[in-house]
Amino acid sequence: MVVAELLSLRAERSVGRDWRTSAACRTADPELFFPVSSVGRARDDIAQAKAVCGSCGVRRQCLQFALATHQMYGVWGGTTEEERRVRVREQRERARGGVRAGAGRSV
Ligand code: SF4
Repeated sequence: MVVAELLSLRAERSVGRDWRTSAACRTADPELFFPVSSVGRARDDIAQAKAVCGSCGVRRQCLQFALATHQMYGVWGGTTEEERRVRVREQRERARGGVRAGAGRSV
């Protein structure tokens, strides 16, 4: 087992798995959630997947899981992989800004 798999398992345990049993997508077409691209017909699939996520009671847990386990493909928690990348990048930039803002302070 590689390190990435171990980290993924640890993240899964920290987020918990029970939320999956309440997923609104359990009976949906998986291809909607994992389109082959983000253009053309796939855009309609993504929109349909996001509509399912919009009515899902475990959306927050799903997104938390996707972020914690670095899910690189598919719609999770109502977000596409690109939207999650942007979110992570913004969080990192905010964290760096917070560190820089506090770097010159003396206590
Ligand atoms: S938020 Fe979307 S992808 Fe996640 S469990 Fe709910 S319906 Fe499925």
